[in-house]
Formats: sequence, C-alpha cells, structure tokens
Amino acid sequence: MSYMNKNIEEIHEALINKKVTSDKLVKESLKKSHEVQDKYNAFVTILDNQNGGKVTDDLLSGIPFGIKDNYSTKGILSTGSSNTLKNYIPIFNATAVENLYKHGAIPVNKTVLDEFGMGGTGTTGHTGIVHNPWDSTRMTAGSSAGSACAVAAGVYPYALGSDTGDSIRKPAAYCGIVGYKPTYGMISRYGLFPFASSLDTCGVLTRSVKDAAIVTDAMKGIDSKDMTSWDSSNIHLASDLTSDVKGKKLFYIKEIVDKKNYPHMTKELENHLDNFMEVVEKCKSLGMSVEEVSFPKDVLEALPSTYVVISCAEATSNLSNLTGFSFGPRAEGKSWQEELKNFRTTGFSPLIKRRFVIGSYVLQAENQDRYFKNAQRVRRLIVDLMKDAFKKYDALILPVGTGPAKKLETDEQVNTDETAILDEHLQIGNFGGFPSITIPDGFVSDLPVGVNITGNCYDDQDVLNIAYALESAMDYKNQIAKEMK
Ligand code: GLN
Repeated sequence: MSYMNKNIEEIHEALINKKVTSDKLVKESLKKSHEVQDKYNAFVTILDNQNGGKVTDDLLSGIPFGIKDNYSTKGILSTGSSNTLKNYIPIFNATAVENLYKHGAIPVNKTVLDEFGMGGTGTTGHTGIVHNPWDSTRMTAGSSAGSACAVAAGVYPYALGSDTGDSIRKPAAYCGIVGYKPTYGMISRYGLFPFASSLDTCGVLTRSVKDAAIVTDAMKGIDSKDMTSWDSSNIHLASDLTSDVKGKKLFYIKEIVDKKNYPHMTKELENHLDNFMEVVEKCKSLGMSVEEVSFPKDVLEALPSTYVVISCAEATSNLSNLTGFSFGPRAEGKSWQEELKNFRTTGFSPLIKRRFVIGSYVLQAENQDRYFKNAQRVRRLIVDLMKDAFKKYDALILPVGTGPAKKLETDEQVNTDETAILDEHLQIGNFGGFPSITIPDGFVSDLPVGVNITGNCYDDQDVLNIAYALESAMDYKNQIAKEMK
C-alpha cells in the first residue's frame, strides 16, 4: 500500500488508525526519493538516516515533506543550489521550517532550485537539470523545480517553495499540481536565502488546495526575526475553507488573454487560451461572475523589465555577503581581494553573474533615477491598477504561462515580445505582495496546464476558497505525474 500519493488528511487518518507508522511513511518517501532522483534529479540531499516521528492529533505529525534548498536547515546541507554554498551547513533553522517541525512534520530531502531562486527553468542548479515527471524531456520550470517534481511524482504530499516572480506558481502549473504563495509576510522569511527581499515569499507546493491551506496554517505567523511578518493568528485557512463562492466577482486582464494579441499563435497556445475560457465558464457555473478588464498595454509591457531591474538590484545587494570568507568554500588568492574575486568569479554561474552586472548598473548613482527609481514607479502603477480593480473584484484569474512545460532544449527565459506578458504576469502578485495560487486546470498536448487566482493582500481565505471551489468542479485534484504512475 502506498501512502505518499495521498493527501494529508488521508495519511493522517491512516496514522491515527494505525494502518501505517510514521517510520513506514518515511521509508516509502525515501525509496521514492531515490527513484525520482535517478529519473529526474530533483534533490540536492536525501536524508537517508531520517526516522519517523511522533504521531499526534496534529495533521502534519509523522508525515514526510521536502524542503527547497534555499531554506536554512540546522545541521543539514543548505546550498541554494549554488557552488558558492556547496558545503554550507547552517547552525539554525528557517522559521518556516522550525514551525513545521513544531507540528511534527518530518523532512526527507532538500530539493533543487535554480541557483538562489534566480531562474525559471530548473536547469541552473549546481547539481544539474531537473526533469519533468510528466515527460522527462521537458523542464519543470523553476525555481522551485525539485519541489514541484517531487510532489507531482508522489514522493510526499507537500514540499516548500519560494516565490519571487513566479517560482512556486509556474512549476506547479508545469507539473500539474497546486502552488500557493500567501500574502507577503504571512510566513516569516527568516532563514530563507534572500534573492529580492521586497518580492520574496515563502510558500508551498501540494496536490490539493486543502493541503496548501493546512501546511500554510502551520508555517505562518508573526516572527520577531522578520520585521515584515504580521500577525495572522485570526486566520485559519484550512478550517475556514469553503466551496461556497456564489457571488464572488472575478476579472481577467483582456490584453493578456486576447488571442488577437498573438498573431504568431501556436496550436498549443490556442488550446491553452481556449482551455482558460472553459475554466471561466466553470467559474460562472459556480455562481461567480467573471468580467474582462482592460489594463494599459504600455504598463503591462513594462512588467518584465520592471521585474528585472528591481529583482537584480535587490539580489546584487543581498548576495554581496557571499565572499567565501564567512561561509562557502574559500578561494585561493594572493590577497583577500583576489580571494573574494576568485570565489565569486568561479562560484556563481554566468546567469547569476549577468544579474549582478544588471543590478550594479541600475544601482550606480548616475543610473539610479533612470532605472531603479523608474522601475519602482512602474511597480507602483501596476499595484495601483490592481488595488483599484480589487475595489470592485475579489480576485484576478489568468492562465499560467504560454501552455504546458517546455522542451528542455528551449530557453524558457527567452520570450518573444508577443508572449512575454503571458509568461511573466505572475510577477504582479509579487509586486503587490498579493496572495496567489495556481491550480491544475486541464491538459494541452497531453501535458498539464494551470490557472492562477490572485487576490488582494490579506484576502488569502477568499483566494483559497475560490481555488477550492474551482478544484472541486474540475477533475485535476491529487494528480500524480504520468511517468510515475
Ligand atoms: N523566473 C523568475 C526569475 O528568474 C522568478 C524567480 C522566482 O520567483 N524566484 O527571477
């Protein structure tokens, strides 16, 4: 009997009724981890010596889970999938991880990401490419690549992710699972390796909306070590989950889903957009209204470059502490300057170095106003447009990406101008710190695709309820990837 392909409540019930022990669950999860590692290369570390834990009334107790390798884990290698930290073992736990431990959750592996979360392909980690378990010739997307792969492959019911632009929500779509990024600050970022602090969000990948709610309830909370965290003790996502969403008002952005904006449309993209429109009809059949809203095209078109400027600037500053002196493998050199230079030159991949060049450039005194401050103004414009829309609507609904998982040989980061907004609009969720969830909503070319729901800050319950209702009206809950069945 296999349990790791079930949802959290089912596994908990089996534990309580003594149909299975936590030790057995851990064994099953570790065995699957190795299978998945051989086929898809999803892990930096597999915790082979892990034992089961105590089973209590707590839903997460005794149940295995995975941790993205940019979360600090005490005594466990935490690399950020970078050569610069390939031997780094933290002496403390990230708060999110610590909170899960308090609930009795059992970690079984650390998952691969794009180096320090900077990327969207799952191909840039120092341990190599992560493959998609629906079709191993395709990418998982990233940066939470290993977490998405493992959850979709049935290694455990959930894994931690982090999301700065779309890093939970895009791989969730490509792997046919759920990816949830709560409101900024709901989960403490303490111990999450920083990428772009004003956008970074902790979150989770699961196979159902309810599981995402259960895990987030356990991870969230105000934390004196993260001054942007806030008190959410009055929010109980899982127990308040309801599929009664009658009267909720949704909108989608016309410019993003209008076929006329894609004169070079592929059959796949057309099917993806048609599929989205069917989901819109599903929402209406659940008693919600869905309206088309127009956003200024120039603001939308500025979105990807705004993201690049802000995220690269913040990353450059955040990652300047990686010198090879305090942690990471120290480099050779005749002086400390040379050691530092050699460490950073050989340690980071070209992709990251390019981002540091952009970041340094836009932060230079003479460029700051033109680039960095301008990007902040555009960010404000976009957030204001959204806040305005949220006065009238409960949530934004949009398709995720341009279709299903891309072939590994294509570089996902290189978009045509035409589809850039479609591929990058999830960044809006990070600009505003909005709660945002992706759920699977069907298949295109035999591969899973996803739909995203984004709401106003602190309206996490609404966002999850809408996703929960929609999930129940469709057939894609608890999906396990085809190659793993
Ligand atoms: N793909 C985006 C990037 O490369 C988002 C990454 C993320 O959310 N961590 O920056």
